[in-house]
Amino acid sequence: MDGVAYTTGSESAKEIHFACQHIVNSADRCADEIRGVLVHEIVHCYQYNGQGACPGGLIEGIAGAYVHLLAPSSWGPLFLWSPGGSTWDQGYHVTAYFLQWLTERYGEGTVPEINELMKDAPYDKRIFKTVTGRKVSKLWKLYKEHLGEGGGGGAPSATCDPFTSEDDVEGPSDEGAR
Ligand SMILES: [Zn+2]
Repeated sequence: MDGVAYTTGSESAKEIHFACQHIVNSADRCADEIRGVLVHEIVHCYQYNGQGACPGGLIEGIAGAYVHLLAPSSWGPLFLWSPGGSTWDQGYHVTAYFLQWLTERYGEGTVPEINELMKDAPYDKRIFKTVTGRKVSKLWKLYKEHLGEGGGGGAPSATCDPFTSEDDVEGPSDEGAR
């Protein structure tokens, strides 16, 4: 299979496909790798997708955020990439770090609330205002200020991030996110 892993299935039964070759390729730290990928994919099993309208970057960012939020710092590979990025919905580690910052600022319920608001209604970026009281554009600006960046930047601090760079190949269908 292409990529590292992907999730598919119905609302009541999910399948996670994990490339054996990827585990072989990361043999020197495969326990951390397996845990990280499984957390990411299991989050996909419980995600809503705003009736298909949620940006892919937010879907992947939420899955990535849980790997960050749940991971002990001993999961070194997660932190190979630095926070930053050019847009909040860039996905993977960029959105994950942003959501992690939102969680630190607005509480543990922040990401679950965002997810819940995508359950029965089409995605609308105003869900960020509903949850935090601020527009997502303003939140991103504050986050960038927090990072000490006016904009742009966010270069990775390493060249390999299997959690976030070559992850699943989910389409815009209901695969992966119910
Ligand atoms: Zn994913």
